[in-house]
Amino acid sequence: MDYEVVIGLETHIQLNTQTKIFCACKADSWNDAPNTNICPVCTGMPGVLPVLNRTVVEKGVLLAVAMNADTPPVSYFDRKNYFYPDLPKGFQISQFDCSLAKGGWLDLPMPATDKDPAYVRRVRIHKLHIEEDAGKTKNESVGGYSRRLIDFNRCGVPLVEMVTEPDLRSADEAAQYLTRLRQLLRWIGVSEADMEKAHLRCDANVSIRPVGADYLNTKTEIKNVNSIEAVRAAITKEVERQKAEYAAGRKIESWTLEWDEDSQSLKKMRSKETEADYRYFREPDLLPVYLSDAWKAEILAGFPELPLARRARFISAYGLPEYDADILTGERSLSDYFEQAIAAYGGDPKRASNWLLNDVMRLLNESGLTAGELKLTPAYLAKIIKLVDDGIINTNTGKSLLEKVNRSGQSPDEIVETEGLAKVSDDSALRAVAESIVAENPKEVESYKSGKVGLMGWFVGQLMRQMGGKADAPKARAIFEELLQ
Ligand code: ADP
Ligand code: MG
Ligand code: ZN
Repeated sequence: MDYEVVIGLETHIQLNTQTKIFCACKADSWNDAPNTNICPVCTGMPGVLPVLNRTVVEKGVLLAVAMNADTPPVSYFDRKNYFYPDLPKGFQISQFDCSLAKGGWLDLPMPATDKDPAYVRRVRIHKLHIEEDAGKTKNESVGGYSRRLIDFNRCGVPLVEMVTEPDLRSADEAAQYLTRLRQLLRWIGVSEADMEKAHLRCDANVSIRPVGADYLNTKTEIKNVNSIEAVRAAITKEVERQKAEYAAGRKIESWTLEWDEDSQSLKKMRSKETEADYRYFREPDLLPVYLSDAWKAEILAGFPELPLARRARFISAYGLPEYDADILTGERSLSDYFEQAIAAYGGDPKRASNWLLNDVMRLLNESGLTAGELKLTPAYLAKIIKLVDDGIINTNTGKSLLEKVNRSGQSPDEIVETEGLAKVSDDSALRAVAESIVAENPKEVESYKSGKVGLMGWFVGQLMRQMGGKADAPKARAIFEELLQ
């Protein structure tokens, strides 16, 4: 039997606000000691009242619009009730039936493989809402006893929960979804989206069904996947397991599974509550959120071109290969940099792209900076490429000039001038050096003449070395060819 894989992803996205969703405590506690960013509101003391953080709504709306969702003019908060030690209030403030956003989708460009051509997978969004995070518990054993510690720092940290329809069809597509989501979140500036720091968390729901079937089989839910690679590996393992179960004539039960990174395997967890157990009802301590047209317009002022649209435009408008367009739009600052550089350059965009992909990317990787932070500005990069195009400096000089500009922040023209980097293409200067090399190396001249023409590279190399790498290489070659006749 041929099976089709069916996957839906539930993600929790930590918004990068300064403060928590309903109080003034600091939101990001990554580097802080347990229970240092807490107050009576986020620890659920009796009598306190939540006050909604405006920026949380604004970032939620930005994300909703970026996901092509509608944003109803009114939305509500609801209580999701459950009992757990990391939830001091005994309920989580979330949104249930009238949330900030409705619908939406993300189109994933899936690259061609050996087997399949490239295609686009549209993943529809089932729900998108804002809510508060819960705390964190940790078990410790002390002197033969075990005790549970609770850190409330994360209580009240603003989250967007976003759930897809079961539209994904492979582990690769699930990985691509998370990659594109992470790119989008950073691009619009609503989250750091670091999976290792739990800014972006994901549960994967997985089932398989016979190819061509239109019903959904029982699914399992995979938790504790903390990287995109872990999501890919865990789904792959689970699909294999489900195929084996069906092949053995057994049924799939709707388990919750936990990914164990060390052993790269899945373990069965508790069976989970159903939705009805949460006893959702309207949050009586918060007003509805009224999103007026004016406020929405204010939120969306300066809304950027999104990464996949920009990627498509880089391909169609500049004729870039998909590979280049993908890297150049991987990060917003880099893609802005590229556009500024080609505007200043005015030449072939692919040529500018090559410089960026090979040389500027190396500077970025070495320094850990974003493109916008480099001392090598887009205008300076454009200038260096032009100096090479115009034959003022050779390519190697151009590459070292790039590093010099980035170190000093000086303009390329100035450095070429003060360090005398301009390429020597003056015929008589090149000829004088070439003649002395020929005179001083009779052995090499002899073997060249007897047919070892590969030695030409050696002659040109000698000349380059003597002239500090600044010689016009094609010209030098022509002169040697003439002298060695
Ligand atoms: P639950 O009530 O178990 O949380 P939901 O209906 O809320 O289930 O769906 C949770 C996630 O599981 C969604 O992303 C949804 O797309 C996905 N999902 C639902 N049914 C299936 C299925 N049969 N196979 C794979 N994914 C599924
Ligand atoms: Mg669910
Ligand atoms: Zn607080």
